[in-house]
Amino acid sequence: MNYFSVFIDLIFPQKCHSCNAKLTKGNVLCSHCQEQLFFISKTIISEDNDFDIAYALYDFSPLIKSLIHDFKYNEMINIGKFFASKAVEFIQTKQDFPKIDFVIPVPLHSVKKRARGFNQSEIISKIIAKNCDYKHLPNVLKRKKFTQTQTRLGRAERKANVSNAFVLKTPQKIEGKNILLIDDVFTTGATVNSISNLLKNNGVSKIYILTIARA
Ligand SMILES: [Zn+2]
Repeated sequence: MNYFSVFIDLIFPQKCHSCNAKLTKGNVLCSHCQEQLFFISKTIISEDNDFDIAYALYDFSPLIKSLIHDFKYNEMINIGKFFASKAVEFIQTKQDFPKIDFVIPVPLHSVKKRARGFNQSEIISKIIAKNCDYKHLPNVLKRKKFTQTQTRLGRAERKANVSNAFVLKTPQKIEGKNILLIDDVFTTGATVNSISNLLKNNGVSKIYILTIARA
């Protein structure tokens, strides 16, 4: 994905995303603003859901919201790499982080992925897989339903919107395995829960969710 770095250099301003201080190349926030980020590593231990534990790195503060927005919609891939490095740090330093076999990004519908040019979750899952020595399975899940954006939907509508939205392409590959599922924001959990339901029905052992933020 070399052209990413080319347009990063063209588009990505070498200024702190929050306070405009000058940065060294490749950084997203200055050290002062990084210190202001509240690393929550909040967890949900699930009873009503099909996943086992959901981890989130940050609260959905205005700064995190703006960073995620620019990553997804303004193609600021450096922001994704920054979040990925924080996720790796979290996984590697958390004492009781579970044993993982496969890391899977929440897929985008192919039309959406083509329009955006990349899947934001896959940028992060790829870096996690590489640095934590997990197997990366970016293509095992497919989003078959073109779902409308969930931003303005309530809990029940979100659930209906993503029900049966995904298909599993090679179920035998993941049977009995522990999966780490990557998404950008955990809101009601409808999307990751729909996927977890599909995976559990196909014999996956444990499902852990890791998102950048919890809304
Ligand atoms: Zn700053």
